[in-house]
Amino acid sequence: MRPSLRARLLSVLAVVPLVLTLATVPAPAAPRADSRADSRAGSADTLFPSLGHSGYDVRHYDVSLDYFPATNRLKARTRIRAVATTRLRSFALDLVGMRVRAVRVGGAAARWHRRGQQLVVVPRAPVRGRFTVVVEYAGVPRTYFDADGSKEGWVPTKDGAIALGEPVGTMTWIPSNNTPRDKARYTFRVTVPRGVQAVANGNLARRARHGARTTWTWQARDPMATYLAMVAVGRFKVYRSTARSITGRKVPVWTFADPRHDVPLSVRRALPRVMRFEERLFGPYPFTSTGMVVDDADVGYALETQTRPFYPFDVDSGTLVHEMAHQWYGDSVGFRDWHDIWLAEGFATYAEWLWGEAQGEEGPAERFDALYARPASAPLWRPAPTQFTGPQDLFGDPVYLRGAMTLQALRERIGDADFFAFLKTWARTHRHGTASTAQLVAVAERVSGEQLDALFADWLELDGRPAGY
Ligand SMILES: [Zn+2]
Repeated sequence: MRPSLRARLLSVLAVVPLVLTLATVPAPAAPRADSRADSRAGSADTLFPSLGHSGYDVRHYDVSLDYFPATNRLKARTRIRAVATTRLRSFALDLVGMRVRAVRVGGAAARWHRRGQQLVVVPRAPVRGRFTVVVEYAGVPRTYFDADGSKEGWVPTKDGAIALGEPVGTMTWIPSNNTPRDKARYTFRVTVPRGVQAVANGNLARRARHGARTTWTWQARDPMATYLAMVAVGRFKVYRSTARSITGRKVPVWTFADPRHDVPLSVRRALPRVMRFEERLFGPYPFTSTGMVVDDADVGYALETQTRPFYPFDVDSGTLVHEMAHQWYGDSVGFRDWHDIWLAEGFATYAEWLWGEAQGEEGPAERFDALYARPASAPLWRPAPTQFTGPQDLFGDPVYLRGAMTLQALRERIGDADFFAFLKTWARTHRHGTASTAQLVAVAERVSGEQLDALFADWLELDGRPAGY
C-alpha cells in the first residue's frame, strides 16, 4: 500500500473516523472456548488474534459473484477446497455482513451460525483430510473502516464497485480464512450487465455472454493471501499487451482504466520498464500476468493487489515502482504475521529509493542520512517497525521509512555485492510462500557470512533512533 499525500495529511485527523468505526463495525468477538478445541489456540495473528483459523489450510477459493451495479447487490457462492490438519467437528470462516443462505460440506447441507465476524460451520460428520465447503450468500456487501479511518472491503464507485482487502476487508465479500499465513489459489467468476467490465487478479480465462449479462472468469494461479484479492466492476477502458521478462517470457498485461482517470500512454509504457528494472534487482517477475486497475474509488491509497495493483488517481512512477516491488516483496514473499508488514513496506519503499537514484534523484544513502537527521522525538523512531500495538500503526513512518532504512543499514554493513545477492536470494527462497523477520535475518546472515541479529534488533525491535549509524 502507498497512502497518497492527501491521505497522510488527513491521517492526523483520523481520531474522528475512528469513533465512527467503533460505532458501525461490530467488534470482533473473541473465540469461545468450545471453538478453540478445533481451532487450536496459539496460531493466531498477533495483531488480529480473532481473524484466521488453524486446523485447516485453504487450497482454492472458487468465487462466483452475480453483481448488480444499480443496487450494489451481490448474489454469491464461494466454493472452498481445503485440507483439515486435524479432525474438525466444526470450523470457522471469516465473514462480515451478507446474508448466508446455505452452507454445504462435501455436498451435504451443514449447520452454521454467525458469531461476530465468524461463520461457524458444523458439518454432519467431522471432516479430516481434504474437504470442500460451499457457502451461498447475498446482500449489499459492506465497506469496512479501518482503525486509521481509511476505507477497504467493498467500496462502491460511480459505475460499480471495487473490493480491496488490506488488512482485513476481504471478509466483506469472500467467506475466507482471513489471515496472510494461509495462501491459496483463486478462481473469480464475475457476472455483470453487458457494457460493464469485471477485472480481478490473475489471468483472464474466459468471457461468456448469457443474454444481457456477461461472466468474466479470472484465474489467480499462484498462491495469494486474502488481503491481496481484488475485484473491480465498472465501465473501463481495457488495454491488453505483453511485457517481456528478462527471462524471455512474455507476461500478459491487462490494464483496466476508468475513462475519467485514464492511464496516460507514458505510464502504460513505464510498466514493462519498471518490471525489468526490478527484475534486474530482485530476480524474475514472480507471477503469470501483470497490469493495473485505475478506478475512482476515493480511498486515498494505492494497493499492491496481486498481479494487478489498484491506483485511485493518476499514477506517478514512484507509486508504480512501489506497488510493482510488492509483487516480489509482500505478495510472492508474503509475511506470516501482520507485525512483520515491514517485510512488504520497507522493501517497496527501498525500491522507490533505488528507482529514484537511477533517475538521477537522491539515492538510498542520501535519503537515509536525511531521515537519520530527524529529531529523536520524530514519529519515525517509535514504535520500532515490528513493535506497534494496534492496526492504526500498520502504515506509519516506522514501517515504511525505518523499514527501508533497515535495508540501507544492512547494505552498508555487508556491502553492495552481498546486499544485492541477498535481495534476490530472499525473493527466491520464499517465492510464493510466507516468511518471518527471523527467517530474513537467517538469509541475510547466510548470504553475508556475518552475524546480524544485533543490527536487526537495533533497527526493528528497539524504540528510539538506533545509535552509531
Ligand atoms: Zn506498500
